[in-house]
Amino acid sequence: MAEKNNYEMKLKYCPNCGESLLKPNSLLNEYWISEDTAYFCWCEVCSWRGEIIEIKRVTAPELATS
Ligand SMILES: [Zn+2]
Repeated sequence: MAEKNNYEMKLKYCPNCGESLLKPNSLLNEYWISEDTAYFCWCEVCSWRGEIIEIKRVTAPELATS
């Protein structure tokens, strides 16, 4: 994958309880699906676990007009 100069983990907090995912017993793992960035996280405080995917493109069936 391409090197990033300003590397930063964008996901830092549990989406369920708001605790930091950077605690030692929590898990935050970053990987890539094609050009999207996925974060697998597990929160030690509330046991929420899941994946959050940052996407580069949105595919929508119909765009709203303004
Ligand atoms: Zn949590």
